[in-house]
Amino acid sequence: MRRQRNSKIIATLGPATSSEAMIDKLFKAGADLFRLNLSHGTHAGHRLAYRAIRRLEKKYKRPIGIIADLQGPKLRVGEFEGGEVFLKTGQRFRLDLENEIGNETRVTLPHLEIFAALKPRMDLLLDDGKIRLRVLRRGAKFAETKVITGGELSDHKGVNVPSAVLDLSPLTAKDRRDLKFSLGLGVDWVALSFVQRPEDIEEAKKIIKGKAGILAKLEKPSAIKHLKKIVCLADAIMVARGDLGVEVAPEDVPILQKQIIHACRLKGRPVVVATQMLDSMIHAPMPTRAEASDVATAVYDGADAVMLSAETAVGEYPTQSVSMMERIIKRVERDRLYAEIRITERRSPEATSSDAITAAARQVAQTVSAAAIVTFTASGSTTLRAARERPTVPILGLTPIESTARRLTLTWGVHSVRTKVLHSFREMVNTAATVAKHEEFAHPGDKLVVTAGVPFGTPGTTNILRISKVE
Ligand code: PGA
Ligand code: MN
Repeated sequence: MRRQRNSKIIATLGPATSSEAMIDKLFKAGADLFRLNLSHGTHAGHRLAYRAIRRLEKKYKRPIGIIADLQGPKLRVGEFEGGEVFLKTGQRFRLDLENEIGNETRVTLPHLEIFAALKPRMDLLLDDGKIRLRVLRRGAKFAETKVITGGELSDHKGVNVPSAVLDLSPLTAKDRRDLKFSLGLGVDWVALSFVQRPEDIEEAKKIIKGKAGILAKLEKPSAIKHLKKIVCLADAIMVARGDLGVEVAPEDVPILQKQIIHACRLKGRPVVVATQMLDSMIHAPMPTRAEASDVATAVYDGADAVMLSAETAVGEYPTQSVSMMERIIKRVERDRLYAEIRITERRSPEATSSDAITAAARQVAQTVSAAAIVTFTASGSTTLRAARERPTVPILGLTPIESTARRLTLTWGVHSVRTKVLHSFREMVNTAATVAKHEEFAHPGDKLVVTAGVPFGTPGTTNILRISKVE
């Protein structure tokens, strides 16, 4: 089963798509990876979805990526008498640690760290930015604020503090439980929410220990400040425009999206553009023109993957949303301008043998009109370097390691396949031809450009490039 496009599609699972039949439909429509959102649902529910996806892998004989998205330190207010209150613009409102039900004048904000980070004149944004409070005075356990933009406020609404760096671990107690559960299942990626500093990634690495890739969600201004370092440390990056768009001004979001993609492309890190991509499709079978344009822009910019959230998790048209995304991606990738951008935006290889080989592979494949570049990889790293070259022919990522094949589903232009353990280069060349034919990438007479390292499986040994003819 071969997909006819380079950029990948991530579909978030939720109540609308929890059954195996629905997940099957999403996969057939084009979803390459599924996101389990640990902010919602139960472990039992996520386990069922996880197992259903693994059964589909067997059914379609294709690796499917699974992302466990941890909630992270999302701050929330407590509860109100009657479930909600109305805050009038100009009134005073107090946030504190009291363990009492809230009203028009105060509510509990059960996060000690936040009060330490607040300063007078800082703004707090509530309920995705709908309500704005300005700090007048604060103590160790409270903050007096003035309501700048009023409105209805109900139980457990989110609180964002854009200008503060909070002394919070990116992994809350709940995250640690969810992480243990997710690693136990065997997820391929762990998404970290509200990353603020490079140290946050280092902390997560110590627990994850390579069992899953780390997908850092950039949704705080402080993470943007450390962009380069975070891109270096994480295995992949998400432009998490939902919370990012609350923390920064709307006109800054597209600029940051481009900056983040640019930084990731330079480093060869997979990058995901997420949130509200086809938002109106939650309730309608067709997107708005602006949404179609938004998905297209991410593809032109060079994103490895685009993500659907509520569209597939709770929407009325989940499969249509995936199909629409697939149509937009394919359409962009047929455009001549897309090919031109790819050439002008190409990054120079770094001074490593792996880059020397993959850069040459890209050029050779083009010169001899090869059907595909076939990379043999253990960790996935050579295949990532080949994808960084953004070649004009498809990349096959062949690996004996199942988790590598699954993790590579996030990477632009890569069709990953698990092979048996191979020992000689001759075996690799033969396997390349067999797999390329079987997976519908090549026919007899076609040429393949094969890259490999001998001894196989030792990272950093990619040192062979071969043009081979398919028989
Ligand atoms: P979320 O992350 O859907 O988990 O909030 C994505 C975003 O904030 O854009
Ligand atoms: Mn978010």
